[in-house]
Amino acid sequence: MSISEVVIAVHGGAGSLPRGSLDRSDEAAYRAGLEEALRAGAALLGRGQSALDAVEAAVRVLEDDPCFNAGRGAVFNTDGEQELDACIMDGRDLRSGAVAGVRNTKNPISLARVVMERSKHVLIAGHGADIFALRNGFPYTTRDYFFTQRRWDALIDAKNPPEAAQPVQVGETVGAVAIDARHELAAATSTGGQTDMLAGRVGDTPIVGAGTYADSRTVAVSCTGIGEVFIRGVAAYDISALIDYAHVGVEEAAARVVTEKIPALGAAGGAIALDRHGTLAAPHSSPGIINGFLLRDGSVVTRLYDDETPPR
Ligand code: ASP
Repeated sequence: MSISEVVIAVHGGAGSLPRGSLDRSDEAAYRAGLEEALRAGAALLGRGQSALDAVEAAVRVLEDDPCFNAGRGAVFNTDGEQELDACIMDGRDLRSGAVAGVRNTKNPISLARVVMERSKHVLIAGHGADIFALRNGFPYTTRDYFFTQRRWDALIDAKNPPEAAQPVQVGETVGAVAIDARHELAAATSTGGQTDMLAGRVGDTPIVGAGTYADSRTVAVSCTGIGEVFIRGVAAYDISALIDYAHVGVEEAAARVVTEKIPALGAAGGAIALDRHGTLAAPHSSPGIINGFLLRDGSVVTRLYDDETPPR
C-alpha cells in the first residue's frame, strides 16, 4: 500500500511487534519518539531547509531516544560493547557520508554528514571515525551514555536463550527519508547493529546502496533487517535501479526487493522508500516494521504493531 503527499517518513526497525506486546507507557514512548522525529524534520522543511537537513534532524531525535537501537540505547555486541553505524545520502548529487563502529560520538548521523561535507571520503570506520569527530568539534561521549539495561539484558539472553520466547523482537534500527520544497530527496539510517554480533561486524546501514540510498531522480530509501542480506542484495540501490531502468513505481520496486529478493536470499526485513512525487512505500518481509510519516497537511501517522503495517 503506497501513501501519497508524504513529506518525511521515519522507521524504527523491522521485526515483530504483535498488538498487546507493549504496555501503554512503552507504546506511548515509541509513538512519541517517532512523532518527535517527524516534527523535527518537518520543521526544517517548513523553513525551506533541505531534505538532507530534515533526515539528519529526524535521525538525531531517534538516536537520542533510548527506545531505539541507535545512539543511546544501541544494542551490545558479543564483547559487551556498542558500535554504531550510520549513513546519510543527498539525492541532489549522490554525495554520501558514513561511519562504522563508532563508540564515543553521541550522534553518528551528524558525524556521517561531516564525513560527507568535510572529508574526501565516504566511509570512515572505528577509532578513526571517533578521532575525526573530535577534530571536527564533536564532544567526546563516554560509553556509559549509550548503556540501557534492556539492551544489556538482551545480550545476556542471546548468550543464554531463555525457555520462553521473547515477546518483542524488533531490530529498532532507525531511518528517515524526506522530500523538500525543491523536490530533492535524502535518506539517513543509524543503528547499533545486531545484538551479540561479532566485534567489528559492519551491517548494511553504513553501506551506500545496501541499507541507505537517495537519488532525487528516483527514490530515497532506508532499510532495516538482517544487514548481511541487504548488503548481498544491494537492496536500497536495487529499489532505485528498478525505478530508474525499469520505470517501475516505488510501491512495486520496493515490494519486489523487500518481499521477494530479500527473503529469497534467506532473511527478512523492511524499508521505507519515498519517491520524487511524495509517494511512500513501507514494505516488509518481517512480520512488521515500526514507522511513521508526516503528510503535506501536517498530519502524522505512527505505526508500531504488525497489524498496522500491510506487508506491501
Ligand atoms: N540492518 C541492521 C544491521 O544489520 C539492523 C536492523 O535493521 O535491525 O546492522
